[in-house]
Amino acid sequence: MQPAFFKSTLIMLKIDMHSHIIPKYLPNWAEKFGYGDFIYLNHVEDGMADMMQGGKFFRRIKENCWNEELRIDEYSNYHTKVQVICTIPVLFSYWAKPLDCEELSKFLNDHIADLVVRYPKNYVGLGTIPMQHTDTAIRELKRCKEIGLVGIQIGSNINTENLSEEKFFPIFEACQELNMAVMVHPWQMMGFDQIQKYWLPWLVGMPAETSRAACSLIFGGVMEKLPNLRICFSHAGGSFLSTIGRIEHGYVCRPDLVAIDNQVNPREYIGKFWVDCITHDIDALKYILNLQGSRKVCLGSDYPFPLGDLEIGKFIQDSNLPQEDIENIFYKSSLDWLNLGIEKFI
Ligand SMILES: [Zn+2]
Repeated sequence: MQPAFFKSTLIMLKIDMHSHIIPKYLPNWAEKFGYGDFIYLNHVEDGMADMMQGGKFFRRIKENCWNEELRIDEYSNYHTKVQVICTIPVLFSYWAKPLDCEELSKFLNDHIADLVVRYPKNYVGLGTIPMQHTDTAIRELKRCKEIGLVGIQIGSNINTENLSEEKFFPIFEACQELNMAVMVHPWQMMGFDQIQKYWLPWLVGMPAETSRAACSLIFGGVMEKLPNLRICFSHAGGSFLSTIGRIEHGYVCRPDLVAIDNQVNPREYIGKFWVDCITHDIDALKYILNLQGSRKVCLGSDYPFPLGDLEIGKFIQDSNLPQEDIENIFYKSSLDWLNLGIEKFI
């Protein structure tokens, strides 16, 4: 590590555009709505809580999942000032009745909006919306905009339906019109029940899901029809970028199967969307930078979960990447994606 370089990156603005948060207390939605495995929290001991899904244990989380001051402290250890926060995908609840999911979404979005108001230099918010019902989703999307959120986080499929389904198009159209960024996060992983062992839904299912979402939005013509829609794919685009050769070849050799709704080569869309940098592998990141250009790769961590880059870009800081690329990754790309100016954070 060269001292001068280290010093310059230390003072550089860092925006982590992929982090998850949950309110400390959640309403008992299952009791209120009278059905469903809605998530609730059992606070078990100091600073710990069990996320319960119906009666079933889902995951133990720590205080840094909800304590906004503690989060800012922990981030400062990695010289990161800004956290773009969104809910934990298991809370999407797309399976619920639309109005119930709207109520749940409002609760989560209001919590995030409150943090954005109270800590304008530390928190930027993405909302969640009831994707299972187009009109209700757009209503909450508009409200997200009104309460100061700058985008939404959505799942990679909605109750197993691909994002290319016609019913979702008006939602994407509204995002473009309202200038709201979209983060696609893998969830409801395909084959989930069949691949339980070895954490495979997370290790294999998630990258595949993100590629499924990217392929659906490209082949379905959503990106072609909405060129100003600002989409970011989680986990460095999942397996999409690393298998683009195969995907392109499929488009060329079997257009009867692939090019039925959009006649543009999928490779044309590379560099027109954003991805985060969560690769845990500098060579994989360099491959992605080579394809996307550094202005389309954002610093993301997946904090505070164990599969995330909890040193928040240290492997990038320690790398031999050009300073310009590091600057783009650490904040410029996220400012572009979120349509924000740097002055907001200085
Ligand atoms: Zn995540």
